[in-house]
Amino acid sequence: MSDKGVLATDKRGIRELGAEKKVGWDEVPQGVVLNSFEEMLDPKHGAASLKPEERTYSDFNSFTATVASWRVIKPVYNRDICIDCQNCWVWCPDTSIISRDKQMIGIDYDHCKGCGVCVEVCPTNPKSLLMFGESMDGDEALAGWPEKKKKEKK
Ligand code: SF4
Ligand code: SF4
Repeated sequence: MSDKGVLATDKRGIRELGAEKKVGWDEVPQGVVLNSFEEMLDPKHGAASLKPEERTYSDFNSFTATVASWRVIKPVYNRDICIDCQNCWVWCPDTSIISRDKQMIGIDYDHCKGCGVCVEVCPTNPKSLLMFGESMDGDEALAGWPEKKKKEKK
């Protein structure tokens, strides 16, 4: 059973979707099925075969509601140092690293929670991702990027 009258209660998401009259998660009837996509999940012709920006999301998909307001620190990406190893893409717990054809493109700031996992797993020297305060300007962060660390002689 699908119930189109149900939507997440994230205020920003509700405003964006014009869904103020819909009910919140705590009002969802037991056993209700909330479809994530308008397309069928057919691997050849449905949402699974499409890139995220090409899918038609249903009102119930968390992609349609931003959680940016939860974040106090954010990752900034430095393209000049990145080696496209995809570590950040693999480890991000919120699928917020955007990668196409095995190339890191950037960060989905609508869904990134600012956990810093991507920075921890980035192997370059210096790192190609670093955490900054939420209000930090991206260009300013890049301008002050650290230099390569030299190995200490033993
Ligand atoms: S800070 Fe966390 S949520 Fe944001 S992109 Fe990095 S790993 Fe993903
Ligand atoms: S982990 Fe670092 S080097 Fe690897 S793709 Fe991500 S930003 Fe680039």
